[in-house]
Amino acid sequence: MKPFWETKSLSEMSTPEWESLCDGCGQCCIVLIEDDDTGEIFETDVACALFDAEKRRCCNYGDRHARVSDCVRLTPDNAATLRWMPESCAYRRLANGQGLADWHPLVSGDPKSVARAGIAVSAKLISEADVAEQDLEAFITKRRKQARANAPVKAYR
Ligand code: SF4
Ligand code: SF4
Repeated sequence: MKPFWETKSLSEMSTPEWESLCDGCGQCCIVLIEDDDTGEIFETDVACALFDAEKRRCCNYGDRHARVSDCVRLTPDNAATLRWMPESCAYRRLANGQGLADWHPLVSGDPKSVARAGIAVSAKLISEADVAEQDLEAFITKRRKQARANAPVKAYR
């Protein structure tokens, strides 16, 4: 029997199925910087103040949208168009018809396969609570590949 992510669309999935798609990479919890002139988006070594880098988990997942106003609210409708989401993100991949990667825990059966594949963020990220906004540029690590050049940027982590 085929797994649910191969037979259902994102909008047909149950809440547990939807939640299980997150591989826990933490890439949507790092602070991103957008170049106003070019629209390019850059990753930093800085994470959301609610992100536990050691565990690669949100410290307050249930209340995250109330606590962090620009925390991503992923839906079946926006999964393909949030251009700053990482290419590896399962929601983005499925929305774009790519299927899950072989390192995804639902495929590999091992949550550690995400880190082994180099997809997970570092455990040494700095909290944004400890970095002044004007200093963020100094923490840029690389440019993030984007989904579609003209899709809107709706959040920055
Ligand atoms: S980028 Fe996608 S897969 Fe990674 S933590 Fe965020 S929602 Fe989950
Ligand atoms: S509030 Fe949102 S961006 Fe911040 S750690 Fe939690 S899930 Fe990640």
